[in-house]
Amino acid sequence: MSIKHSKTVILHGLSVSPGLADGTIHLQRGLSDPIDLPDNSLEYSAENELNRLDQATTKITEDLLLLATRVEKEIDAKLAEVFGFHSDILSDKLLKDELKKEIVDNLVSASSAVKSVFLKWENRFLLMESVIAKEKGEDIRDISIRLRNALAGVSINPFESIPSGCVLVARRILPSDTVFLASRKAKALLLEFGTVGSHAALFTRQMGVPCISGIHNILRVIPDRGYALIDTRNSEVTVNPSPERRTAFLKEKNRYNAHLLESLANASKAAITRSGTRIPVNANVGCHEDSDKAMKNGADGIGLYRLEQAYIGRTFPPSADELLAEIHHTLAPYKAKSVCVRLLDVGSDKPLPFMGFLAESNPALGRRGIRVMREYPEILHTQLTALLALHNSYDLQILVPMVTLPEDVKFVRDMLAKRCSELNIAEPKLGAMIETPAAALSARSIAPYVDFMSFGTNDLTQYVFAADRENAAVEPYFDDASEVIFRLIEIVHNDLPTMPLSVCGELAGRPEHTDRLLQCGISALSVAAPLVAIIKDTIRNISR
Ligand code: PEP
Ligand code: MG
Repeated sequence: MSIKHSKTVILHGLSVSPGLADGTIHLQRGLSDPIDLPDNSLEYSAENELNRLDQATTKITEDLLLLATRVEKEIDAKLAEVFGFHSDILSDKLLKDELKKEIVDNLVSASSAVKSVFLKWENRFLLMESVIAKEKGEDIRDISIRLRNALAGVSINPFESIPSGCVLVARRILPSDTVFLASRKAKALLLEFGTVGSHAALFTRQMGVPCISGIHNILRVIPDRGYALIDTRNSEVTVNPSPERRTAFLKEKNRYNAHLLESLANASKAAITRSGTRIPVNANVGCHEDSDKAMKNGADGIGLYRLEQAYIGRTFPPSADELLAEIHHTLAPYKAKSVCVRLLDVGSDKPLPFMGFLAESNPALGRRGIRVMREYPEILHTQLTALLALHNSYDLQILVPMVTLPEDVKFVRDMLAKRCSELNIAEPKLGAMIETPAAALSARSIAPYVDFMSFGTNDLTQYVFAADRENAAVEPYFDDASEVIFRLIEIVHNDLPTMPLSVCGELAGRPEHTDRLLQCGISALSVAAPLVAIIKDTIRNISR
């Protein structure tokens, strides 16, 4: 049932990026209809159509690469990784063969072939039970439309035309949309799909745009061009408020923003609790622009440098020198400061072209993170060589992703010790990411090989609750602030009272849980750059 324009309606969802905002609603219903050229039978040649298809595919692949680069530079390096799936579809051999067969056997235009073959593929995904498969189906429709538009010489994104400063309402946002959203700056985003660990959430937090997701049937229950108030503190959206409610909200918004400005002014100062404990608030970064932003936002150091961008999109792995240049560039704003570099966290769902991955029926439970590096020790060797060259310029720490067994960290520790003794230098601090229940429950066995531990609560939640962090269908199961998670952190702290413990998952950036994290024994946090000020401010008001 849709809501009448003038009636006040209050909706609740899930807050994924903090803030208060108000504005005129703009409903985004998805990609506009593709432009299909009519088949011209007189000039038809299958060979021509195959060539046109090749050219369009190359163009879209290049566009995706360009978009990925822009997303990496302007928004977030981690988000850019997702473009891999779109490029994979375009280069899929099975799909290419089907398209070719359709053109050659049925003598249709490239555009018709794309339309029918992609529709078949899309339906295969849409018929599957899982929401994630349905989302992949939507991705396929997206690419089909892009490809057909490219064949007609048109390249558009619907988000290019959203009014600046609107409250944007959409079922979901794709990674490729973020570039256009970044330059148009919606005041707030309301979504149907997007868990706290999703890419949409990551994007909005990096951009500092308030976002509420999980609003069921969003395009039907929210009227286009209505006026909305968004308050993520109680995950509430008020559509068409009364004048009194609006006035009260605007006053509250001003208070909230003034407080935000005040905390930003203090952001570069240390965060010390009322009882005098200093809690470093570091930033999660993936490229130079992220570190720049982190410095401007007052982050004390880099708590998580995701190294994946240096590898993704390459045909050959980078050499130690190439890697060193990239790391130097990214970390430059934090020279002589504390930087924590995470070793490569790829595998299974994020395959690299130069690693021969086999298809795995359950990739999230397959070869990723340290499991991959144990299979390809030369890749680990290159990373350690590059990182050790930085040893004198930074207060360097190295983090091992996706640790499950003590052997996972022992493997890195042994190689690190060997490299350091060859180079005659002291070993930098080594840490284990606690992202699996096994790692948390066997922290005592992992401890002999590491100097610190960092909780990756996004993956930890995914594995504790057996709920895919990107799958909206299991969103109620993905609760990264559940007592279960705090309990696991407490277990590690009780088992290892002197081990430095930090959190670098998204939970670290949610002020309502900061006190609880400190209570569990967490002594440092690492968050998206725009959240540094608010987390520091929260720490200053904690009495423990
Ligand atoms: C995590 O899992 O919490 C984490 C910080 O790692 P990523 O989000 O890169 O998987
Ligand atoms: Mg992780």
